[in-house]
Order: sequence, then structure tokens, then C-alpha cells
Amino acid sequence: MSTAANPSTNDKPRPSNFPQLADVHERLTGANFSLAQVGAADDLHRYGVRHPAIGATIRGKVFLKEVLDLTAMEISFGLIPPQTSIPFYHKHKQNEEVYLFLRGEGQFQVDGQTMPVREGTVVRVAPDGVRCARNTSDQDMFYVVIQAKSGSLEQWTGSDGVGVKDEVKWPAH
Ligand code: ZN
Repeated sequence: MSTAANPSTNDKPRPSNFPQLADVHERLTGANFSLAQVGAADDLHRYGVRHPAIGATIRGKVFLKEVLDLTAMEISFGLIPPQTSIPFYHKHKQNEEVYLFLRGEGQFQVDGQTMPVREGTVVRVAPDGVRCARNTSDQDMFYVVIQAKSGSLEQWTGSDGVGVKDEVKWPAH
């Protein structure tokens, strides 16, 4: 087990509950953190998962719950190729999702209502919302999805963050 003082890149993430087409190999953990280098957005094509509930392989998608030892949320990076739609609708049992669109341009759909999305658009979807996204541009659409249990957040930002009085220090390089 590595520590914050002696972080190690040798430890492997726990196996995902999804079969993954490629794994995130660059990882660093300490007592109170987990870091992963997933790669540049352009390199996300090598990732993909076989989704057990949907029975489809989703390419360009990498889930980070196991990679980062997350305990309260799931995060995934996703890439949708140009002029392509995610080929299925889905909804959730208990988690709300936020989609952060970081590159590209297209449309998002919730319960049949279509809305434009582009770099900088953030969409929250309640568990029951039937959702899909498509890329209507000629470049890859890069997006991040965060899911967490709906109604579970009790403290945040100013009510949860606590200042630490230590003077900030960094190594010389
Ligand atoms: Zn979802």
C-alpha cells in the first residue's frame, strides 16, 4: 500500500464491474488521493466498455470509479465520433447525472425534448430522464459524465470545505 509521502505507480485499480476494452495504466495513489492519467481527448478512441444492461459496446468511453477508488460518484470520459449518435436511450435507478460538454457541438435529448449542446454546456438529468446525445459536428464530441445518488448531497463548498492554516509550500521543481 502506498502512502502520500511515497506515492507509487505500481498499484493496479480494482477490476471494473464493466469489461473494459482498454485500461488506464498511469495511476498514482496515496493515503488520501488517487490520480489517473486517462490520456488526451483525441486518444479516448482506444477505450470502450461492454455495457451489461444495454448489451452494447460503447466505444470511446472510460469509467473512472474503480480507477480513482471513488466512493460517492461515478465519472466517465466519453467521445462521440463526428455525425454520430449514442445508439441507445438510458435512464437510471437512483443516480442523477451531469453531462459536461468540453468539445464539439451537437444535441442532447431528455424525454423526447431536444436541446443544443456545445463546449461549455452542462446538463443535469434526474434519474428518470430518458436521455441520449449526438454529435452533429465534424469533430469528435468530448464530454464528461458525473453521476451521484440523487438527493444525497448534504454539505458543499462553503459548508463542507475547511481552510487549513499551513503556509503553502512546493518543491523547487
Ligand atoms: Zn447514465
